[in-house]
Amino acid sequence: MRRALGVEFEGFTWPERFLVVSTPFDFFAVIPHLASVSYVTDPERWHFLLRIPDLWRVMFPIPPEVPDAVALEHAYAQAALASVVPGITNYQIAHTTLYRVHQRVAKTYRVGRMLLAGDAAHINNPLGGMGMNGGIHDAVNLTDRLARVIAGEAHADELDRYDRQRRLVTLEYVQTQSIRNKQNLEAREDKERDRFRDELRRIAADPGLTRDYLLRVSMIASLKRAPELG
Ligand SMILES: Cc1cc2nc3c(=O)[nH]c(=O)nc-3n(C[C@H](O)[C@H](O)[C@H](O)COP(=O)(O)OP(=O)(O)OC[C@H]3O[C@@H](n4cnc5c(N)ncnc54)[C@H](O)[C@@H]3O)c2cc1C
Repeated sequence: MRRALGVEFEGFTWPERFLVVSTPFDFFAVIPHLASVSYVTDPERWHFLLRIPDLWRVMFPIPPEVPDAVALEHAYAQAALASVVPGITNYQIAHTTLYRVHQRVAKTYRVGRMLLAGDAAHINNPLGGMGMNGGIHDAVNLTDRLARVIAGEAHADELDRYDRQRRLVTLEYVQTQSIRNKQNLEAREDKERDRFRDELRRIAADPGLTRDYLLRVSMIASLKRAPELG
């Protein structure tokens, strides 16, 4: 739809791809205090562990020089998994997926009677879990307005407010935060890594800052921000 409308998808594509390897291995049994969603920073190669029913999904960045066919080989996934817990190798692998990662936002979410929402309107890296959530926020923002326009209770211009509010919030919050999440995970310099840790410690030590931080990363703050955008 977006392409057919000729709406530009502004932004960029990261040079690395992400490899997701799914395994039934029980990481809870070998990593103390592991959370179901865990981000592991590492100057060599960060990874991300996500518990889903019956499996763990482990995500790794794949450098641009590694061809797709190599990254999708069983041996490559095994080697990547071997870096997660020292001494544990030879995992059972349920499946692997390799995909490109983008940060893009449509130039407009409305062209006449056509409205864009969800991934058609915006895509971001998955660190922080904001993609689907952002799409749901689009739907919540749009549906009530659309119903009122269809019922003749509001002018069609009301739909421009959907475009303004959701597009600007996506740029301000989702794109900024998901890019920051990725940069924090992959930080290579000691100075940068210390800065991230110190910032988290400072936030954790102050209940007010912790509340603000959680409101921001859970995207609740962005829901409050949207109506201020017109
Ligand atoms: C590895 C990974 C992890 C993620 N983790 C999270 C997370 O933790 N939290 C989060 O919020 N988000 C996450 N996301 C993002 C999330 O998956 C997407 O943002 C969400 O699925 C987008 O939903 P959507 O309905 O907009 O688009 P889609 O899920 O892409 O649905 C679009 C549908 O339209 C269909 N379609 C396309 N063209 C046509 C056509 N011409 N006619 C009919 N049907 C058509 C497609 O087949 C598809 O079923 C993650 C994504 C990835 C890749």
